Amino acid sequence: MLGPPLRHALLLLPTVIFARPGPALGQLHGDFLRIGARDINKGEFGFPNHLTPLKEYQQALEMDVRIQRQVDKSGNAELTGYVGRLAEQIQRRSDLKGPLWLRLTRSQEHLAFSTLAGRAYIDEKLVRIAENESQLAGAIAHEVAHLAARHGAENISRMRLLDANPSGFLTLLRPCLTIGNPFTSGGTDGFWQAVCYFNEIEADELATQYLWNSGFDPEGLLNLLSVLQDHNWLDAPPGPSQTSSHPPISVRQKRIRIQLKKLPGLEAARLDSSDFQEAREQTRANGVPLSRK
Ligand SMILES: [Zn+2]
Repeated sequence: MLGPPLRHALLLLPTVIFARPGPALGQLHGDFLRIGARDINKGEFGFPNHLTPLKEYQQALEMDVRIQRQVDKSGNAELTGYVGRLAEQIQRRSDLKGPLWLRLTRSQEHLAFSTLAGRAYIDEKLVRIAENESQLAGAIAHEVAHLAARHGAENISRMRLLDANPSGFLTLLRPCLTIGNPFTSGGTDGFWQAVCYFNEIEADELATQYLWNSGFDPEGLLNLLSVLQDHNWLDAPPGPSQTSSHPPISVRQKRIRIQLKKLPGLEAARLDSSDFQEAREQTRANGVPLSRK
């Protein structure tokens, strides 16, 4: 996601990060009754974001130009419209302020990913792989959650702050170590693995809340992860290191189940729709491949 100059700056990091892991299990954002009215980017789990909204917008635009050169756009207007409407429904009931710029791609490496300033990319393959609408909604909610939590902008800020003060790495990492994070050592790679681990856990928790708040089956993301199993290609790692990886599916599901227990039951959760099944049939008829590019 980030350019070589910033990546290079991280080589100045010490090789070992000492940290005391915090409580392993629990909620990061327990105030799910205030979704949309709360600020999820402040306090213990917030990170001082040093990008202005304008800079964030410009960075996202530059990335979008590069991404568009690398991936094919879906040529299916009907499918694009359907996925866009689904994403809007989720965003309206999320913490993400401002516009959501969603692009439907065809056969990119990742099933879905997001950058910053409200830009998300969903691949046709995801529509084909998901078993029902709530699973597709779960993946979209996960990307909306990354954007709402401003993970992309936070990571750029982390890199800039580290560049300016390489000894400040532990301060920058501290919020990520509050969840029993296993990555507490290892220099540059350890730093970004710890960030990635935290970001994914936070995005999964928020996504499950957004599913619940928008009336979808809140188990949608949990069940999609079961379908994906160890194919951890739901989205691109948020850090610059190639060794950054997502937490194991089993860990993610364990954390999501904790979240599900906290959420009040829904009278009529939306599991599926005829629109989704039609969209899925289209991807099959169009021969959207299931394997990686
Ligand atoms: Zn993610």
